[in-house]
Amino acid sequence: MSMNVAIDGPAGAGKSTIAKKVAAKMEYIYVDTGAMYRSLALYFIRKGINKDDEAKISEAVKECDVTIEYEDGQQQVLLNGENVTGLIRTEEVGNMASSSSTYKAVRAKLLDLQRKLASENDVIMDGRDIGTVILPNAQAKIFLTASVDTRANRRYKELKDKGESPDLEKIKKDIEERDYRDSHRDEAPLKQADDAVLVDTSDMSIDEVTDRLIEIIKSKI
Ligand code: C5P
Repeated sequence: MSMNVAIDGPAGAGKSTIAKKVAAKMEYIYVDTGAMYRSLALYFIRKGINKDDEAKISEAVKECDVTIEYEDGQQQVLLNGENVTGLIRTEEVGNMASSSSTYKAVRAKLLDLQRKLASENDVIMDGRDIGTVILPNAQAKIFLTASVDTRANRRYKELKDKGESPDLEKIKKDIEERDYRDSHRDEAPLKQADDAVLVDTSDMSIDEVTDRLIEIIKSKI
């Protein structure tokens, strides 16, 4: 049987950074489900569809085929055969993903793909509903969080390091809005599974969080 680790939590809690490190140390495959939602979002943006138009998005999603490949251990997302991995990390795509992922047709599209990856491989999968909906039987579940201020400051620094001139208050507001949308939607809202271990990373370094997660996972397997 494959080993499944579910990591959920809000945007900016450090899920992908930590999950990548833990996966490398434990020789599991890292599955970034946010990237899958982002690839669909890119398709809707390219089609010029409004993020609030559920009917059009639900139709358009039928034209999408999302697949995952690994290159040097790095996840690549293919949208209708095109590798879009380098195109999906923008705020525009993130905002479209946050809205379009609230729709049932969009979530249904990715559910089988995520479950199949987990049934065939030892995975660390991160997202919003992995422990609650996608992999309810995962051997280890972690809910990773951090205060809004911490997450906003991390994002601010990340953008600054890229040479951009970010606005901290705007970042904070975006994070609060995204948190609200993710946790109040009808379909698979962001919430801690009953059997998930809560880890608040606000005052922890990346290495500390990585070690803590490995400790939790090892205690469960
Ligand atoms: O994690 P990331 O920021 O890349 O995800 C982009 C958006 O996709 C999130 O804001 C969230 O709304 C959505 N998402 C989701 N379920 C997941 C992963 C991401 O709804 N499992």
